[in-house]
Amino acid sequence: MALPQSADYVLIGAGIHSLSLAWRLSDLLGARNGNDPSIVVLDKSDIGAGASGIACGVVRNNYFQPAMRELMAHSVGVWESDPEAFHYQSVGYMQISPETMHEDVAQIYAEQQAIGYESTFVEGKDDCRRYMKKIVEDWQMEDTTSVLHEKRGGFAHNQASLEGLAAKARARGVQIVPQCRVTGFQRDNGSQAVRAVETDQGTIACEQIVVAVGPWVRDLWAMLDLPQQVSVRSGQENNGQENNGKATTVPMWRYWQLEEGVLQVDPSYQQTNDGETPPVFHVDSEQPLIDKQSGKEIVKEGIWGVYYKPDRNFGGVQGGAAPYKIDLEADEVAVDPYGPESPQFTASKTFPDMWCCALAACQQRFEGKRSLYLEEPSGGVGCFTPDSFPVFDRFCDNVYVIADSNHGYKMIGVGHLVAEELLGATSALLEPFRFARYERGALHPTSKSPFPWS
Ligand SMILES: Cc1cc2nc3c(=O)[nH]c(=O)nc-3n(C[C@H](O)[C@H](O)[C@H](O)COP(=O)(O)OP(=O)(O)OC[C@H]3O[C@@H](n4cnc5c(N)ncnc54)[C@H](O)[C@@H]3O)c2cc1C
Repeated sequence: MALPQSADYVLIGAGIHSLSLAWRLSDLLGARNGNDPSIVVLDKSDIGAGASGIACGVVRNNYFQPAMRELMAHSVGVWESDPEAFHYQSVGYMQISPETMHEDVAQIYAEQQAIGYESTFVEGKDDCRRYMKKIVEDWQMEDTTSVLHEKRGGFAHNQASLEGLAAKARARGVQIVPQCRVTGFQRDNGSQAVRAVETDQGTIACEQIVVAVGPWVRDLWAMLDLPQQVSVRSGQENNGQENNGKATTVPMWRYWQLEEGVLQVDPSYQQTNDGETPPVFHVDSEQPLIDKQSGKEIVKEGIWGVYYKPDRNFGGVQGGAAPYKIDLEADEVAVDPYGPESPQFTASKTFPDMWCCALAACQQRFEGKRSLYLEEPSGGVGCFTPDSFPVFDRFCDNVYVIADSNHGYKMIGVGHLVAEELLGATSALLEPFRFARYERGALHPTSKSPFPWS
């Protein structure tokens, strides 16, 4: 498709955020103006070429940060608005935790009740074991002392859901231009505002720009001349309130590698006692992880975590473990080729043993199944902000950046809220994620989970 010469809104990146935004914005503009909205989505490759196209697809509310939970509750509502188009399975989600996390998860449960998000909380070893065995008879984790069972949420099929969003956007007049790489921005002398976007297919003049490029945000951020170092006033995490703690200067971006893989068991293998698709299981534990077959100690001590759910792309069961930090400066990380095609950044050699062993520790049916692990490159890098939480904000007068700090496939509703902000509203749900929070020390609280996104 040829690049138009101009558009009111240019959205960069064809992942979950741009596509959801394009859909909602075209709806709102259509209703307001009664004519064809001028929204163009540009992607250097195509729909789903980034993190959204390889995401495991887990949709949950379980976050320790109240602001994240409220935002996720909104997004779950958007997933539920058209499960068929989004290939969304509303099977629920379970956070299964050891005693170290009990208090944090109890707080999440209490706050879920306060915002009306339906969940059940089970406490104590015996009750947790009984509860899990009612769902899957072969449950065998021993150190679980709390289970948070979210009745909403579940998982969606990555690429299929993006195609569903793209179809909605196209039906409302949005143009999606693949194979069009953004290379720079044009500004008038002395002006902050961007008046045109430069690409390898030519230049497109525009009124407003949205950058939603997942792990490539580092590059677009640099093209916009935004700060590479950020002053973060830390002190103690204070749940969004300002503080007068000491300021430290840190790099704006860091990369982590997501560890994910697939066990090629029969697709019907992971079912509940009633023959249903089970909820997504997220299990954290401090139990030593020992491979029963070889006797090898996989994790001797400390907390570990895994998640898993049925998979559609490969058949079987898909999931992951905690990511690892890439020990390079952000500008040294080669994001392309991305995901499983990267020669450098895919799931580590130790991941399959750890993940398969953890699944076997959770459910007896996975014992002796390590040989069914799909031995192909998997996973991909994520670009994280200084506090590992999203930044949703306006820069350079007319550029909106959606930098989700790798939380984002589940956040299908963020595009809707950004659409409203582009048209002049202020979203209370997005307010806690402004860039100025670093300088103000208005940071989010952090939990005891081994994951940087919990
Ligand atoms: C392995 C893995 C598993 C994950 N699992 C989950 C999960 O289960 N649940 C969850 O909620 N989140 C998950 N995430 C995180 C989630 O996938 C991302 O946070 C989210 O998809 C980012 O969406 P996005 O729209 O910002 O960007 P992306 O989906 O990454 O899309 C960015 C697009 O921008 C394009 N682009 C880049 N540079 C340019 C340029 N210069 N010009 C034009 N186009 C450009 C790319 O081609 C790409 O298509 C996972 C991430 C990874 C890596």
